[in-house]
Amino acid sequence: MKQNTTPARVRFAPSPTGRTHLGSGRTALYDYLIARQTGGQFILRIEDTDQKRYVPGAEQELMDSLRWLGLEWDEGPDVGGPFAPYRQSERKHIYQQYAQQLVNEGFAYYCFCSPERLAHVRQEQQKRKEPPRYDGLCRNIGSEEARRRVNDGEAHVIRFKMPHTGSITGVDLLRGPITVENKNLDDYIIVKSDGLALYHLAAMVDDHLMQITHVLRGSEWLPTFPLHVHIYRALGWQEPIWVHLSVFLKPSGKGKMSKRDTELLKQDGFSIFLSDLKGLGYLPEAVNNWIALMGWSYDDHTEFFTLEDLIEKFSLERLNPAPAAINFSKLDHFNGLHIRNLPPDNLAQRILPFFLSAGLEPDFERLKKITPLIQERITTLDEAPEIAGFFFREELSLDPAELVGKNMTPAESAQALKAAEQILEALPELSPTSAEEPLRNLAERLNLKAGQLFGILRIAVTGQRVSPPLFESMEIIGKDMVMKRIKQALEALDVPA
Ligand code: GLU
Repeated sequence: MKQNTTPARVRFAPSPTGRTHLGSGRTALYDYLIARQTGGQFILRIEDTDQKRYVPGAEQELMDSLRWLGLEWDEGPDVGGPFAPYRQSERKHIYQQYAQQLVNEGFAYYCFCSPERLAHVRQEQQKRKEPPRYDGLCRNIGSEEARRRVNDGEAHVIRFKMPHTGSITGVDLLRGPITVENKNLDDYIIVKSDGLALYHLAAMVDDHLMQITHVLRGSEWLPTFPLHVHIYRALGWQEPIWVHLSVFLKPSGKGKMSKRDTELLKQDGFSIFLSDLKGLGYLPEAVNNWIALMGWSYDDHTEFFTLEDLIEKFSLERLNPAPAAINFSKLDHFNGLHIRNLPPDNLAQRILPFFLSAGLEPDFERLKKITPLIQERITTLDEAPEIAGFFFREELSLDPAELVGKNMTPAESAQALKAAEQILEALPELSPTSAEEPLRNLAERLNLKAGQLFGILRIAVTGQRVSPPLFESMEIIGKDMVMKRIKQALEALDVPA
C-alpha cells in the first residue's frame, strides 16, 4: 500500500475521565506523526460529554503530558482553530441537529421505554440465553405520536434504527474489510435522556465537520465500528480511513492492566501514567521511542528513533494489530540511549530539577562539568543526584567499615590513605594527569593493587563505592575539599598512628 501523501487531518479525542496513560500517549503520537509527515494538522478534541465520568484536572494533565512529549497540536480547545469549539460539551446543539436529521429521515427513532422495562427485557433475554438487545418496542411508534410525546415532555432517548436484514462492511486499515450482519447489531442509543449525544453520534459528527481524514483509536471501538459506519452512511458522508490500534497488555503479557497492576508497578518505580514517567526520570524522547514501537516497526532491527526520525519513517501500513505487552526494561534501555544522545549541556539542564528535589543546590556551571562524567552511567535522570550528589554536599556521611580496603585491615587502610594524603597535598592542583600516576606508584610501593588504594580514596572523597571517574571527580571537587574529606576519612578510621 502506498503512503498517503495528501495533508492528513487527524485528531486525538480523549475523554477527560482519568489520568493520561501510555495508550493515549501512543495514539496522540501516531496522530502527530501522520500530521507532521504529510504537512497536515493535528487536532486535539476533548470528548467531555459524559459528565458522570468527568474528572476535574484531567484535561490539564492531558495537555501537560502531550506538551511534555513534544506533541503540539495545531487546533484545540486552548489554541482555537477554524472548527472551534473543540470541546464536545460546547457543541451540544450541533449534535442535536444531526440527531434530528436522522430521526426525520427514518434512520433513528425516539424511545420512551423506562429503565425498569429495559431491565426486565434484559432479564428475559438472559433467561433465554439471548444477547442483550433492545427489543424494538418503540421502533414503530408513528412520527406524529412520537413528536407529541416528546413535546409533552415524556422522558426519551434516541436510538439508531438498525436494519433487520442485510449486512454492513467497514474497512479497517490494519484488518481489512469487517462485515457484520445487521441482525446481530443493536438499536444503539445515540442521544441520552438528558439530551446529550453519545460518542457514537458526537464523534462521527465532529470527525465529519472537522474534516478528519484518518481516525486512529483503540481497538475497543471495533464492536461498535459497524454502527459508526452505519451513521456515516445514513448521513451521506464520506468515511475517514479507520485505524483501530492494538491494545496494551500488562508486562506479563497476560491480560490488560488493572488498577492493582498499576499500583504494583508504582512500587517498582514504574508507571503507565505519562506525568509520573517525567518524575521518575524518563526523557520524553525515550518515551516516544518506546511507545512508537509498541505496535509499529520500521524494519526488523532499527530501534533508535528521535521524533524527527519518526516523522520521517512512520507509516500506518507497518502498524501491527496484535496486542503489545508493556515492557519497562525496554523503556530503561531507550532512556539510556537517549540520555547518551543528548548534548551534555542539555542533559545538565534536565538533571538540575532532580538535584533540587533531592535537596541539593548545584552550581550550574559545575553541574555542566560533571554531566559528561555521569552521562554514560545513568539510566534515569533521578539517578544523577544519587551518583553525583557528593559534588554538592558539604559533609559526607562515612561508614568507617566502608573505608577499609579490600583484603586489608583498618590500620593498613589508614596507612595507605595517609600516604596518599601526603602525595596529594604536595601537588599544586589535582587532576587525572597530576594525581593518577603518583598514586599508582604508591600502590605499588605499598604492595597494593591500584584498585585497593583507589577504592579507599573513592569512599573517602565521594562517600560511594560506585562513582564517576575518581580523578576527574577530584579535579572538579577541588583540592581543598578533597584534602578535607581525606582528613575526615582518616578521623573516621580512627586508627592510632
Ligand atoms: N473519547 C474516546 C476515547 O477516549 C475517543 C475515541 C476516538 O478516538 O474516537 O476512547
